[in-house]
Amino acid sequence: MTELDYYQILEIERSADQEEIKKAYRKMALKYHPDRNPDDKEAEEKFKLVNEAYQVLSDENKRSVYDRYGKSGLEGQGFHGFEGQSYEDVMDDLSAIFESVFGGGFTGRRGAARGAGNKYNLDLSAQMQLSFKEAVFGAKKELKYRYKKPCEPCKGTGAKNGKVSVCEYCNGQGQVYMRQGFMTFAQTCPQCHGTGESAKEKCKSCNGLGYEEVETTITVDIPEGVDDGNRLRIPNAGNIAADGRRGDLYVTFYVEEDEHFIRHGDDIYLEVPVFFTQAVLGDTIEIPTLRGKKELRLPQGAKDKQQFVFRHEGVKNVHSGQIGNLIAQTTILYPKSLNEKQKELLKELQESFGIESKPHESIFESAFDKIKGWFKK
Ligand SMILES: [Zn+2]
Ligand SMILES: [Zn+2]
Repeated sequence: MTELDYYQILEIERSADQEEIKKAYRKMALKYHPDRNPDDKEAEEKFKLVNEAYQVLSDENKRSVYDRYGKSGLEGQGFHGFEGQSYEDVMDDLSAIFESVFGGGFTGRRGAARGAGNKYNLDLSAQMQLSFKEAVFGAKKELKYRYKKPCEPCKGTGAKNGKVSVCEYCNGQGQVYMRQGFMTFAQTCPQCHGTGESAKEKCKSCNGLGYEEVETTITVDIPEGVDDGNRLRIPNAGNIAADGRRGDLYVTFYVEEDEHFIRHGDDIYLEVPVFFTQAVLGDTIEIPTLRGKKELRLPQGAKDKQQFVFRHEGVKNVHSGQIGNLIAQTTILYPKSLNEKQKELLKELQESFGIESKPHESIFESAFDKIKGWFKK
């Protein structure tokens, strides 16, 4: 593996000035931030490298040593980067850098990057109703929803003309401390929501909220095979923070039931009504499947609730792409009433079976003998 140099990592020219370095760092750090790439080891390594690169290039002394002697020159000065360090340690080291570049929004703790310092969560959730068919085969469907974006006249501060002063409630700390017995707890300031700022005069445009809500419509690409309750993440479609960061939109699907097909995971169940004579004689009947028609061969003497499996006629799994089965299950139906002719025919049929038509007689014969003995004492 060839090692990228710090300029390549930040994707900048060797002649880049501090403003460009900062901008590049901002972009790359957000791209690889672990909160945006949960459980992605590669992103985490990239994130460490991006920070290492910025630590060096943002410091003119370190940068000139690095330019002349490379990494080994820096190591001579005791700089070692983040290799082998745990994520938590790295984040603790980085919180100062983060604050200088991003403002107080980022903290050293995982998961805290979103929300803190914002008046609202950046991630949004929405719901979407799907027909059975849309869920099974996928679809493109429009979704109308509202997101928050910073109010323009006050630049998201909520203060008239963007003029903010220090929050008096927390003294600009963004946190307040609560004592309970001998313990002290830190809490995000309820007045300024952690920004440490307050508005002397409210912005009229947003009534001091600092944001406005925008209605928008997007086309959601629903993948084939989604199921009731599944959630789809649409990156960068959430709320927008005052500093321009944008959260994600999470769409939860609700799937309508079909009148014939019952979905169970990737399998589809179909109830097949069978008249008793069909069950006795056997028959070949046409049944509907998700992708057309199939022939179901009922054997002679088919049973009630008997299942017939049609492999790969079910739903395509949204993750693995494997296709489930269609399971056709019989429900045997008997005539609700019989006319004289039918009664006669059935009696005649029954008699033609002789002793076979009264199976209980031969089976219970020995039982009757047995219980006789139970009552004789
Ligand atoms: Zn405050
Ligand atoms: Zn405003």
